[in-house]
Amino acid sequence: MAHTPSLSFEIFPPNPAAGNEKILSALRHMQDLAPHFISVTASNNKYNLEDTTVRLADYIHNDLGIPSIAHLPAIYLTKEEVTNILVALDQIGVHNILALRGDRIPNITPREDFHYATDLISFIKDEAPHFDIIGACYPESHPDSPNQVSDIKHLKTKVDAGCSSLVTQLFFDNEVFYDFQEKCLLAGIEVPILAGIMPIINRNQALRLLNTCENIRLPRKFRAILDKYEHDPESLRAAGLAYAVDQIVDLVTQDVAGIHLYTMNNPQVANYIHHATYSLFKHSAV
Ligand code: FAD
Repeated sequence: MAHTPSLSFEIFPPNPAAGNEKILSALRHMQDLAPHFISVTASNNKYNLEDTTVRLADYIHNDLGIPSIAHLPAIYLTKEEVTNILVALDQIGVHNILALRGDRIPNITPREDFHYATDLISFIKDEAPHFDIIGACYPESHPDSPNQVSDIKHLKTKVDAGCSSLVTQLFFDNEVFYDFQEKCLLAGIEVPILAGIMPIINRNQALRLLNTCENIRLPRKFRAILDKYEHDPESLRAAGLAYAVDQIVDLVTQDVAGIHLYTMNNPQVANYIHHATYSLFKHSAV
């Protein structure tokens, strides 16, 4: 049977003070697009995860009937806190976790229980082996890594600890992804790698992103869009969406395992990408 890639979405919980109305409405729109799954990010030390990530994962899984994945950054959690989150996820029937270390926050001392994502994965495998665990990976290397060899060696250890698949950090240059995929294979990492794609729809979003993801390279073609449409938001949005579609078409035709779309909670973006690429994700005939 021909390989059919998956199309999945990522959303983030809003600030609890703002309420969930807007994100629930966005999710109902995304439901119509029948994504393979929706993953919910988690705050690293800011919000209570049971009130935010777990609650939205519950809504996606039980109210919308779409598989959901709960992100879980653990560097600021104790084993007891992780156990409580596992129990909460168990109760709502969500058994998929994107297991993460989380970023180190300046001036906040990490807890001692989980130094790396691998520690969290081993812990979950011992405590609750029925959970499916996904890991994060970085085609342009994690910024903490001295080099890509070290990063991929640690990634191999992480996968061996119990990841069934990986999701990449966003990237704008598909060649970087293909090169990374090949290096993973050479290192013996054979689980599916889902490509994280973020459509850029305004200049501030792009600038914010470049500040936070300093390891991401911008191809000339992409930089030209940001420069040319600096003062033309409508064209920037159109070109950013077209760029993402172009990336997805290329990835799918090169047999990517799946596309994980960073939706930024924007149902119009998810809708646009879905409609532009829908037939690429249809289950093919035998
Ligand atoms: P790890 O896999 O632990 O790797 C971190 C660094 O440590 C890497 O450089 C790795 O090479 C190195 N390393 C690993 N093991 C060892 C070892 N034994 N010895 C020495 N070095 C080692 N953050 C959030 O807070 N919330 C989210 O919801 C969230 N979602 C994300 C989703 C995706 C798809 C991605 C790609 C990232 C996400 N992040 C999220 C960001 C992530 O938490 C940060 O990038 C964090 O700095 C690393 O997390 P990790 O799980 O990849 O770390």
